[in-house]
Amino acid sequence: MNILIKTAILALVILLVVIGFNTASYQSPLIADARVAAIEVDIDQAVDNMQKAIGYRTVSYERGAVTNGEQFTQFIEFLEESYPAVHQHTQRTIISDYSLLFKWQGKSPELQPVLLTGHYDVVPVIPGTEDKWESAPFSGELKNGYIYGRGAMDDKSAIIAMMESAEALLSRGFQPQRTIYFSFGHDEEVSGLSGAGEIVKHLKKSGVQFAWSLDEGSFVMEGLLPVDKPVAMINVAEKGYVSIDIVATGAGGHSSMPPKKTAVGKLAEAIVKIQESPFSGGLSGISGEMMDQLGPYLPFSQRILMSNRWLFGSIVERGLSSSPAMNASMRTTIAPTMLSASPKENVLPIEARATINLRLHPRDTPESVEQHFNNVLEGFDDVTVKVLHGNNASPVASSTSAGFQSLAASVRAVFGDVIIVPGITVAATDSRHYVSVSDNAYRFNPMQVGTEDIAGFHGTNERVSVENLGKAVQFYQSVISNQ
Ligand SMILES: [Zn+2]
Repeated sequence: MNILIKTAILALVILLVVIGFNTASYQSPLIADARVAAIEVDIDQAVDNMQKAIGYRTVSYERGAVTNGEQFTQFIEFLEESYPAVHQHTQRTIISDYSLLFKWQGKSPELQPVLLTGHYDVVPVIPGTEDKWESAPFSGELKNGYIYGRGAMDDKSAIIAMMESAEALLSRGFQPQRTIYFSFGHDEEVSGLSGAGEIVKHLKKSGVQFAWSLDEGSFVMEGLLPVDKPVAMINVAEKGYVSIDIVATGAGGHSSMPPKKTAVGKLAEAIVKIQESPFSGGLSGISGEMMDQLGPYLPFSQRILMSNRWLFGSIVERGLSSSPAMNASMRTTIAPTMLSASPKENVLPIEARATINLRLHPRDTPESVEQHFNNVLEGFDDVTVKVLHGNNASPVASSTSAGFQSLAASVRAVFGDVIIVPGITVAATDSRHYVSVSDNAYRFNPMQVGTEDIAGFHGTNERVSVENLGKAVQFYQSVISNQ
């Protein structure tokens, strides 16, 4: 046989052996495997309080203005009445009239404190959709094992679960080693500036810096990813936000004798070019760590690719990018959302304008995306790029810190054999404020959800199952008792 063919066959055999070995030995890096003893929960009381909590119409309508303050005040009074031990044994500070900060002094003041946070404002129910709800949106009705209502998932359930946990532990005489803070914002849905923003200022003045913080974020997801086990995604970062205008100009005049390209035509070409030029993604950083955990549980064919990313990296990336959810977690996304041009059908536009909304991956900045657009549109005449406003993605928290391990251990204690992965929050949370007083800001809701539950977020039929509420109480008890 020709020496070249022999060498080629040998190389192919070696390649197959390497691919086979990598696939067979593919394992997730170990994340906390601690077991915690079964935790008792007074589920009837938790359900009762959750139902009451939904009844308060703590709706955020617009930034900087609380329009229904008495509902917020009544919610605060409801917490006082329902959780007497918490209010007796912790120090509560009210910030900006409606946001709450509780300090639960630990036994060892030399240890860095931690923060458990959530928000009790909710988004409005979209007018006209009220009768599409199976139970009225502020009824808190219990039906077929679910509590219905605005805030059931986002995010009153977190607050109720935290309070139930603390109340139960306090009534058993528990005191944590570390000082634990709880903060409950009243305007997260409209920027969090006067709630979390002011809480952060207060904490800074008091010299408080948390080892870690835990806010709303991802979930234990079932059936949402192509693996057999549920996946608990603890988010370690939050994407940034920037809006950019693309402006095309033209001569104007009557539309009966148009130039070859009007401003609208130029703008359309620019938008097409932008959409065809996505930001680089890559399985590095958070996306890579997520895949390291998830990969070994994927179906065999995908496992071969995933365990040999040195060879199949670009195929893997292309495959993942075809899912909008995965794509959003891997790269800065581009969404053209608004258009305007001529005010009249027979008038040539002097200017055509498109607004593009981008969600920034931690590797990009408002400046770098502006540069990207300018590069992409090089050679386009009469088209300019204007950054409207924006903010960077959050810093990335460690997925190997003691805090992450502690949260992961509590996930295992409550949810059993699940895959734990770090992830990225694609929307905004109050943690955009807390990052400046927290070494590691994590974002995770201790609830198991499927496709149907996700749809209720900010939508119709938001609901929380009694089982999930119980698990959330167990989770926070586990977290708190490990501090
Ligand atoms: Zn929320």
